[in-house]
Amino acid sequence: MTQFAIPTPPTVALPIADSEQMFPVRRVYCIGRNYAAHAIEMGHDPDREPPFFFQKNPDNLDPSGEFPYPDRSSDVHHEVEMAVMLKSGGSNIPIDLALGHVFGYAVALDMTRRDLQGEQKKLGRPWEIGKAFERSAPVGPIHPVSKVGHLEEGPVTLKVNGELRQEGDLNQMIWKVPEMISYLSDYFELAAGDVILSGTPAGVGPVARGDLLDIAIEGLGGLRVKVR
Ligand code: MN
Repeated sequence: MTQFAIPTPPTVALPIADSEQMFPVRRVYCIGRNYAAHAIEMGHDPDREPPFFFQKNPDNLDPSGEFPYPDRSSDVHHEVEMAVMLKSGGSNIPIDLALGHVFGYAVALDMTRRDLQGEQKKLGRPWEIGKAFERSAPVGPIHPVSKVGHLEEGPVTLKVNGELRQEGDLNQMIWKVPEMISYLSDYFELAAGDVILSGTPAGVGPVARGDLLDIAIEGLGGLRVKVR
């Protein structure tokens, strides 16, 4: 047996709805500007330019339902997104075979230190300090494809303290799930445990300590997240 010189990092494990089993996380990819109305609100052209991705860390995913307001920011935004969990992967995956690699789906948040992201954008620097911080990706229970099938349409919503702030439909994604998987697999070797956050509809905005965020996607239920 391998002997490690330091304590081994824990495997990030996410709950699966109505199951004792857990989903182990390998990598987290996130697409930017994947809903036209959100691209416009961020000051960009919604035309179908090639997709772009950034990454979060596996242990940024957090199923606890609590979001500690992070340090070093005074403008933390909510972005409700559908998370796609892979059960297998590979390179150069054709679009028509891509959905065969999906294990399941979940509601999620891509929490963003918008002020820090904005500074990095201006300087042409990477986004990690705006995106890949501790507990920056609250995530609900995973619903396996074997139970819910594949989701191509349905409302995506986020409420802050009961007030509707984000509303869209999965069918408004510029790059669909099979296209995202295929595209990513041209640049990275995908594998079981990989998670893809599929972008946010319009209506992103700031959160404050004490806020209650309710996110929901038809077919995947909801998740309540308390901002601490
Ligand atoms: Mn996002």
